Amino acid sequence: MIDTRILEITAELAGAKNIVIVPHKGPDGDAIGASLGLYHFLKDKGHAPQVIAPNDYPHFLKWLPGTEDVLIYESNTDKAHEFISKAEIIFTLDFNHLSRCGSMQDALLESEAVFVMIDHHQEPSDYADYTYSDSTMSSTCEMVYRFIDKLRASKKITPEIATCLYTGIMTDTGSFRFSSTSSDTHRTIADLIDKGAVNDQIHNNVFDTNSQDKLQLLGTALQNLCVNNELRTAYISLSQEELDRHNFKKGDTEGFVNYGLSLEGIIFAVIFIEKENEDMVKISFRSKGDFDVNKFARAHFEGGGHINAAGGKSDLSLNDTIVKFNSILPEYREELTK
Ligand code: 5GP
Ligand code: MN
Repeated sequence: MIDTRILEITAELAGAKNIVIVPHKGPDGDAIGASLGLYHFLKDKGHAPQVIAPNDYPHFLKWLPGTEDVLIYESNTDKAHEFISKAEIIFTLDFNHLSRCGSMQDALLESEAVFVMIDHHQEPSDYADYTYSDSTMSSTCEMVYRFIDKLRASKKITPEIATCLYTGIMTDTGSFRFSSTSSDTHRTIADLIDKGAVNDQIHNNVFDTNSQDKLQLLGTALQNLCVNNELRTAYISLSQEELDRHNFKKGDTEGFVNYGLSLEGIIFAVIFIEKENEDMVKISFRSKGDFDVNKFARAHFEGGGHINAAGGKSDLSLNDTIVKFNSILPEYREELTK
């Protein structure tokens, strides 16, 4: 854990400041929940915060309090540049390397603001002036909760903040079931409920707002499931044609990869998704136990993440990517079968 002088940020936060808050590209529940939770906290303290997401995020997060105030860099670049050039402090949340912001990285590199990183990924890079990094944490939202607590401001957690932080902890822990969920995570969640997070509504808003297209896309994904029982691995692929056939929208494939892990005996699950307009295949990796998908994604698919959840990409065709994957897999026989 790196916790460099994070409390000294109190001095930086004295007096109203122009602040920009940045989640990673392809923002998920944790990245957006942490950004909006911090946004409400800083706004309530009298600052002028602005959340700028590198690109758009899924429909199932667009009910979060403050979502209407989020600026999308890709579609509103000029306005985003204005905020970034005025920013005195920039919080980067839920990522460990500036390249995870995509094309927004260049604008951030030019900024002279004070940078603060709050993140739970392994191997943080050292661009920030204040780095709060802890890869044992369930989520960045749990870290924002602790950050507020470190500032002795827990009493300032409003129902809006509680709702945002609850959502990110819930989505990053697979609804409190992954091994990253500690007793402290549950204590945090309990406190967030006390502070106004309405748990059944949050679960409903995130998980029970599927479209028929999405469920039918899941049907196609499951038809495509390939299982290698010997190497305890299962993978799913979705071609651009299959996505188009089901009117794919951002976020529609969220969680599909986990179905592979629900098979008895399977400890490594992967989904390959063809992204024709980005000229690549996006890959998600999940594992159970100590098979390290972060290492796997870094070594073979230009990616990274955590030990049990990582992502990456491939510039090969969908078929060639799967052929490459199947040719690499036997190298991991020992780790997958022990
Ligand atoms: P997902 O598979 O849900 O997109 O991501 C799982 C985890 O891996 C998340 O923590 C995410 O931040 C990380 N991740 C996903 N894609 C990439 C990538 O291309 N590069 C890196 N370094 N991390 C990724
Ligand atoms: Mn996260």
